[in-house]
Amino acid sequence: MKKDNNKKKHENHTLNKDTDTEVRKIIERELARQKSQLVLIASENFASEEVVKTMGSVLTNKYAEGYPGNRYYGGCEHIDEIEELAINRANKLFGSNYSNVQPHSGVQANTAIFLAVLNPYDKVLSMNLRDGGHLSHGHAQNLSGKYFEIHTYSVDPETEQIDYENVRKLAKRVQPKLMIAGASSYSRIIDFNKFREIADEVGAYLMADIAHIAGLIASDCHPTSVGVADFTTATTHKTIRGPRGGLILADKKYSGLINKSVFPGIQGGPLMHVIAAKAVAFREAMENSFKEYGRRIIENSRAMCSFLKDEGFRIVSGGTDNHLFLIDLTELGMTGMEAQNVLSSVGIILNKNVIPYDKLNPDLTSGIRIGTPAVTTQGMGTEEMYKIGELISYTLKNRANKTKLDGAHKKVKELVSNFPVYTDI
Ligand SMILES: *Cc1c(COP(=O)(O)O)cnc(C)c1O
Repeated sequence: MKKDNNKKKHENHTLNKDTDTEVRKIIERELARQKSQLVLIASENFASEEVVKTMGSVLTNKYAEGYPGNRYYGGCEHIDEIEELAINRANKLFGSNYSNVQPHSGVQANTAIFLAVLNPYDKVLSMNLRDGGHLSHGHAQNLSGKYFEIHTYSVDPETEQIDYENVRKLAKRVQPKLMIAGASSYSRIIDFNKFREIADEVGAYLMADIAHIAGLIASDCHPTSVGVADFTTATTHKTIRGPRGGLILADKKYSGLINKSVFPGIQGGPLMHVIAAKAVAFREAMENSFKEYGRRIIENSRAMCSFLKDEGFRIVSGGTDNHLFLIDLTELGMTGMEAQNVLSSVGIILNKNVIPYDKLNPDLTSGIRIGTPAVTTQGMGTEEMYKIGELISYTLKNRANKTKLDGAHKKVKELVSNFPVYTDI
């Protein structure tokens, strides 16, 4: 009798799928939120159902420290196949001859490169955070800012675009060991070839962080950094529309150095369920429809941007070449935080963002960042971008009028309901 009970308990634990209703219900509420709001966060997207399901696979159970063919654990034969597939697909997609698909995130990918080529207190030249750079490029609280001597370049105060002559001047003065090209909130083409020239002039390594624009590069909608920069780092969950994770691309002469920096340098066992989902996403990104997707992201971004410009909003740098743009709210007398909150109350989800030479701190900010990767995945086109632009303008201009805000919220819900996502999940 006792034995039977134990057996039953064991079965319950391993087989019963629906016991944790507490967690399940929260996930359901989050799914409902994703389906009912407008996602304009430039770094977010809707991964395919196949990507999402692959992440939920039993591959999560496997320890696989090491690399294909050279693991510290037994039973890795299928894991090896998965990782090799992900690597080969990444190489094919980006035209590289080496890739590391193990970084758990974009910051991990960057940190691995720092560990590979820098010693403590070495000099790094990167883009100022306030002008579009990323925390992992030298923020004081980030490992990069604590262990290395960070120098930053700003955008030109007039054009609000990268001034390559200024970057050259700074590079010559600073003599960095590593230069970083890449940004989180920069709406213009980044000229990796110019960065390469400058890096060569001062004998620096060049790292391109394409976290935001990986999907635009994969779809030939932005010039590539692969074969130009020494190291390209990326996330796999932004415009490239895969699982949350990181990626490194480089020439294979750096393979030994980078591999050991990722593991055992900064990580332990790779997330094989995520690596499998990366493989799925890379295959999706090779399809012709993905090229079309990249093109439409930018078309949509430009459409909404020019609409809002015509509505009288000041656009940082005057426009956009990619998937995002920034609005300067100073003339409206409101902060980025206020704008984020009122837009969120009508179901429009985006983020406050510092703008070049911002006088407000990062908690308040003078700007908001708007991105089109997610709404483009949903199938929205320029017609919808004008509608969204109108809703943003209306909401910001009527931010104290509860009735008008309710009206805007209703329209947001209507619009989103016409473009359903995750119908099978
Ligand atoms: C998003 C981003 C990262 C960080 O990615 P995580 O996956 O959040 O660690 C790194 N660099 C840039 C430029 C980014 O925009």
